[in-house]
Amino acid sequence: MRIEIVNSSVSGQCALKQGAGGGIFPSGIDLIQTRAQMNTDIANAAPAADGSNTRKVYVKTYGCQMNVYDSERMADALSKDGYQTTDNPQDADLLLLNTCHIREKAAEKVYSELGRIRQMKQTLAEQGRELMVGVAGCVAQAEGQEIIRRAPIVDIVIGPQTYHRLPQAIARARKGEKVVETEYAIEDKFEHLPQPDRKVIAKRGVSAFLTVQEGCDKFCTFCVVPYTRGSEVSRSVAQIDTEARMLVAAGVREITLLGQNVNAWHGQGNDGTEWGLGALLRQLSQIDGLERLRYTTSHPRDMDDALIGAHHDLQKLMPYLHLPIQSGSNSVLKAMNRRHTVKDYLDLIGRIRQARPDIALSGDFIVGFPGETDEDFEDTMRLVETVRYAQAFSFKYSPRPGTPGAERDDHIAEDVKSQRLQRLQALLREHQIAFADGCVGQTIDLLLEKPGRDPGQLIGRSPWLQPVIVNANPSQIGDIVKVRITRTGTNSLYADCV
Ligand code: SF4
Repeated sequence: MRIEIVNSSVSGQCALKQGAGGGIFPSGIDLIQTRAQMNTDIANAAPAADGSNTRKVYVKTYGCQMNVYDSERMADALSKDGYQTTDNPQDADLLLLNTCHIREKAAEKVYSELGRIRQMKQTLAEQGRELMVGVAGCVAQAEGQEIIRRAPIVDIVIGPQTYHRLPQAIARARKGEKVVETEYAIEDKFEHLPQPDRKVIAKRGVSAFLTVQEGCDKFCTFCVVPYTRGSEVSRSVAQIDTEARMLVAAGVREITLLGQNVNAWHGQGNDGTEWGLGALLRQLSQIDGLERLRYTTSHPRDMDDALIGAHHDLQKLMPYLHLPIQSGSNSVLKAMNRRHTVKDYLDLIGRIRQARPDIALSGDFIVGFPGETDEDFEDTMRLVETVRYAQAFSFKYSPRPGTPGAERDDHIAEDVKSQRLQRLQALLREHQIAFADGCVGQTIDLLLEKPGRDPGQLIGRSPWLQPVIVNANPSQIGDIVKVRITRTGTNSLYADCV
């Protein structure tokens, strides 16, 4: 399966966008295909070379880590139905677009992709081959039947809460039905999803995602997530623990817990009491062989003392926290319905840094939210100067249909947004470089994840999630080694083994 990260964010609050090598993706995502390459692949589609009858699925993933996880789980569900994943759309019998609704004009981009796929499907039909097309994810949830109406080549539309029903949907589509599965399922999809076998997990790499929470009840006024992913739902401790142990047994060394509001996770613990994410992390940290834990994305309002305490106590919990604020202005935060102030956020940062002094902070910013004044923007610049993020993601506000922000009549002019964004990004970049420079000369633990670009190189992640390039033997993938950082690259660090 190829996974193309067209854009990345766990939630609408974190409009993350990361270039190659600069992101937060574990090595489980071993192939990142460019959109241009995908288009070329589609245009050149031809029958499978081997002419075999094995059914193959090509999954194209847009968006956040949660979609990456979902794509893997859809592939797991399909493997039990006889499908093998393929990296080549030309070989596919089933082409699945796992879509994201965060970015501007997300639906239109999917429709134009479907236009290209229509040509491919036609070419294959002329050659006597059948291609089934499915649209999954948040655009599927938001558009539903409209996708079939506008793109009749689509056979299946399936929302994020129902993808465990994919094999049945395919069976219905094979009989000629146009299937739309966007109702929120009563059953727990995770209970109905098969687990991948060890070989599949091992192929995905030593760092894995594990979704523990889905949905959002916060209703930030710029964000579509509550409408596409539904209310906050937490998976049970038992489910999460079992899945984590299975990943570790297959060679995973690092797990990143995922959720649109991951730190809103809660559930009944083994002791019968209600647990929050801090207690869950403590439980998972006891798994032998699991060396590193991370989680993303967090909301400041759900950062409780137990979670901060986990950062203090758990060495396996990496000293990196993605904690979006979006704006440094109280009036903009209020307009965004963030329900916390700048002071609340800074106080929180202070407590977190006290608990874990070496923690690196990451954030998200939206500039030019409707009504944002010059002074509001200067407040954001002051906040950034105060916090000094190790990494941050920033975007111009763009309206999402159906959200309260989109309905406002005080939108900011594009050129003003652009100027503000440029200034903000220059400052964020300055801090990111300063943080990276501060790493030079340090000896750190590096989890070796995958081969680098040049022979003899491996790429790993620092505790602060930076990609680190080191000369090492491929047999060391999965090892945590001591390295000394020697220099910085554009979005990475270079190191020598010590
Ligand atoms: S509405 Fe929920 S998912 Fe969207 S930005 Fe706000 S907290 Fe995040």
